[in-house]
Amino acid sequence: MLKRLIRPIISTFSKAPSINHQIIPREKHSISRRDISRSALKVMQRLGDGGYEAYLVGGGVRDLLLGDHPKDFDVATNATPEQVKHLFRNSRIIGRRFKIVHVRFGREIIEVTTFRDNHKDNASAQHSAKSEDGMLLRDNVYGDIRSDAIRRDFTVNALYYTLDHFSIHDFTGGLQDINRRRIRVIGNPETRYQEDPVRMLRAVRFAGKLGFDIEKNSAEPIHKLGSLLRNIPEARLFEEVLKLFMGGYGRAVLPLLQEYDLLQYILPLTDQALKEDEPFAEALIQQALTNTDKRIKNNQRVTPAYIYAAMLWPSVCAEQRKLEAEGMKPVQAHQQAAHNVVSAQLRTTSIPKRFTQGMKEIWDLQHRLPRRQGKRAERLFEHPRFRAGYDFVLMREQAGEDLQGLGQWWTRYQEVDPAERENMVAKLESGQPRKRRRPRRRKPKPQGQD
Ligand code: ATP
Ligand code: MG
Repeated sequence: MLKRLIRPIISTFSKAPSINHQIIPREKHSISRRDISRSALKVMQRLGDGGYEAYLVGGGVRDLLLGDHPKDFDVATNATPEQVKHLFRNSRIIGRRFKIVHVRFGREIIEVTTFRDNHKDNASAQHSAKSEDGMLLRDNVYGDIRSDAIRRDFTVNALYYTLDHFSIHDFTGGLQDINRRRIRVIGNPETRYQEDPVRMLRAVRFAGKLGFDIEKNSAEPIHKLGSLLRNIPEARLFEEVLKLFMGGYGRAVLPLLQEYDLLQYILPLTDQALKEDEPFAEALIQQALTNTDKRIKNNQRVTPAYIYAAMLWPSVCAEQRKLEAEGMKPVQAHQQAAHNVVSAQLRTTSIPKRFTQGMKEIWDLQHRLPRRQGKRAERLFEHPRFRAGYDFVLMREQAGEDLQGLGQWWTRYQEVDPAERENMVAKLESGQPRKRRRPRRRKPKPQGQD
């Protein structure tokens, strides 16, 4: 009886005859409607009422099956973007690599994608194209749920939940892979990575996030094909870096990026600093990711400026040392080093100006926060980036750097009243030998003048 409930259907319609379509009925899976956002349910309901198919798909289904809270919900449908737009007043068509529809409910956005196809035939050549490396350039051919499933990246991301009997449709063995806790590419891994090299970063990201292994055949080509990431536009890589390190699992993702030698394609200087064992580099970067993961879990704000500042700080220090050894003064060397490191990073991932500005300010404060004499402490405390600079000091100390109690001093400075603050600064001054002012020498009068 139970066996009959999981109906394997060898599809007769599909172009790929090996597709094994399993329908998992409500009583055989753990997804409850209560766990799905009301907005996503509304979207699915209205599409269904309009006569279209509608499924919850991707990370939403995967995370619910694993008992996690999905960060967003995506819906797949056989309605075209225009038809979806027609059904929802609160929607707009977004056209990045392919057309999708965003349906907005307050702050929540439900992404609705039309079933797509992987289109290998000539008839669709005008809608799709590949580069010489086999990379998909355009990808805008519509298909059915089967073709949509097999053009997705990993089996665990290709499960479809429907309000029709609340069942799950599995075309690629995704459910088994969820149970076995493994990331497996759909189709031939090498081809799929060539089509879109970002999938290699995604494999590592999901493995880190879910604590899954990357299945052997899916893992194997990554070392060989990693360099294809060089062909990815800087802006897309920037987005990917944010997903890797600001998704709440950065600490788990970093060692996998190192293991698969992918770090060099997104943060080449960081990779170099880690490989060269720059002082405190590993500990500092791990600490930054641990702190970021914690902040995300606590719903606290995180900024790319902070992550990038941490990732690149060891490289800035190394570059500064090099410039000083070449005879440059420390202050100038620091500024030049910051500039050089940011310019080098921008050749790999774009970073919006407001973030590079923030990174430079955080770095600059590392040199200014130790100099607290006179009115300096007061002024530093007013600095708009004080908090980020101070947090960065604490992080460096957590990572094992000895900054002679600098973090603790600033912690106390923030806790006490203004009179005590003055006291703290005064103590600092009395504790240090005062710089002796050189007596000003009178300019000798020019000769012949009286
Ligand atoms: P999360 O949102 O938790 O990071 P996700 O699986 O929802 O994970 P998204 O980037 O939101 O990931 O993408 C949604 C879905 O779209 C994926 O689950 C996958 O099925 C498909 N997808 C996304 N990017 C690709 C890609 N590069 N190649 C193939 N399919 C992709
Ligand atoms: Mg998602």
